[in-house]
Amino acid sequence: MSSLAEFDPEVADLIECERLRQLNGLELIASENVVSKNVLEAMGSIMTNKYAEGYPGKRYYGGCEYHDVVENLARDRLCELFGAEHANVQPHSGSQANQAVYFAYLNYKDRIMSQNLSQGGHLSHGSPVNISGKWYSIFQYGVDPETETLDYANLEAMARIVKPSMIVCGASAYPREIDFKAFQEIAESVDAYCMADIAHIAGLCATGYHNSPVGVVDFVTTTTHKTLRGPRGGAIMCRKEDAPAIDKSVFPGMQGGPLMHVITAKAVCFKEAMHPSFKEYCGQVIKNAKAIADVLAEEGLDIVSGGTDNHLILLDLTGLSTNGDHLTGLAAENALGEAGITVNKNTIPREQLSPFVTSGLRIGTPAVTSRGMKEAEMKQIAYWIARVLKDIARDKTSKKAISEVKAEVTALASRYPLYPEVI
Ligand SMILES: *Cc1c(COP(=O)(O)O)cnc(C)c1O
Repeated sequence: MSSLAEFDPEVADLIECERLRQLNGLELIASENVVSKNVLEAMGSIMTNKYAEGYPGKRYYGGCEYHDVVENLARDRLCELFGAEHANVQPHSGSQANQAVYFAYLNYKDRIMSQNLSQGGHLSHGSPVNISGKWYSIFQYGVDPETETLDYANLEAMARIVKPSMIVCGASAYPREIDFKAFQEIAESVDAYCMADIAHIAGLCATGYHNSPVGVVDFVTTTTHKTLRGPRGGAIMCRKEDAPAIDKSVFPGMQGGPLMHVITAKAVCFKEAMHPSFKEYCGQVIKNAKAIADVLAEEGLDIVSGGTDNHLILLDLTGLSTNGDHLTGLAAENALGEAGITVNKNTIPREQLSPFVTSGLRIGTPAVTSRGMKEAEMKQIAYWIARVLKDIARDKTSKKAISEVKAEVTALASRYPLYPEVI
C-alpha cells in the first residue's frame, strides 16, 4: 500500500476513482488530454519544493542552480519547437499568459478587439465577468452567420471603426483554420498589437498541421495541457525586443514564485513534442476529428461550418427537435455522460439559450487519440453519439440507447489503457 493510501485513504480513493473514470470512459472534451508518464513523473517530483522567484541567473532565492538549468531547458526547447525568439514558461495557466500580455502592453480601458465567447472565443479575451472585460474596453467579433467562419474583410472593416490597441485572435471552440497572417495585417493597418492565443491548437501549430502564428503576430500565448499534451500551465512567445516587458509583466507583475515542478514537466513536454511520434499523433488527432465529423454528418446531424480543420467539432443541436423544443447542449451532455462519453455543451453561432444550457456540443479528439484510437474507433464513437442524441430527442426520458451504448463504450475503453504498464 502506498503511504498516501495509508495516511489519507479518502484522497487516495478519490484519485483511484478518477483513474477508473478516465480509464472506463471516452474523453471527448476538446481541451483535455492524457499526459505521458514522463510528464507525470516530472510534475510529481521534488522540484515543487523550491522557491525560484525571478528568472534563471536572476533569482530572489539561493539554491536555484538546478532550477535555472531546467527553466532554461524549457525556454530553449519551446523556442526551438516553434522557432520563437523568446519564451516565458512561467504563466500558471493560459489565462495568466493572456493577462500578462495585456498588462505588459495595454493601459486600463484600452481597446481590445477579440472573438466573442459565445462564438468560439475565450473568457480571458474580454468576457464581462473576467478581469479582461473589466479592465479593458472590449469590442467583440463573431463568425459570419452564413458560413459560420471568420470573415476577414469584415474584421478589417470593424478594426477601422473600433481602432483597437490590440487585436486578439485564437479560440476555444472554432473548428476551422485561423489565418494568423491576416489578423496581423489587419492589426498593423490600424496600428494595433496582435496577440494569437493558440491554447487549443498549439500541438497542431508546432507540428505544421495548422499555420503557426510564431514569427507572424506580435505575441503568442498558449496553454501546455491541451493538444500540446503537457502539464496544466501556460506560456508566452514573443520577439527578443519584447522579452523584457513580457517577463516583467509575468513576474513581478502578475505572479510570485513559479511552479517549478510544472516548468520541469513543461521541459519534458516540449522534448516530447519535438519527437517524430508527436507529429504523427497530431496528424491522427485531425484524421480522427474528420472521421467523427463525417459520420455525424452522414447521420444527418448539423455540424457548425460544415466540418473541421482541427481537433474539434461543434455540433448544432437545433435541428433535433423534441415536441417543438430542440435538444439542448445540457441535455445532450448529460445523456452522453451517462453513456460514458464525456463532452461539453457549447454555445453555437446565433445561440438563443444561456451558456448553462446552450444549443451545441463540442467534441474533441486529443485525449482519445493519446490512448491510441484511430478512425475505426472514431466512427464507432460517432455512431454512438448520434444514436444517443436521436433517442433522447425522440423521448427525453429514454434510457434505451444510453444503456446499450454505455456497455459498448466500456468494452472499447477497456481495450485502450491510459498507461498500459500500470494497468
Ligand atoms: C483553454 C484556453 C485558455 C486558458 O486556459 P486556462 O489554462 O484554463 O486558463 C485561454 N485561451 C483559450 C483560447 C483557451 O482555449
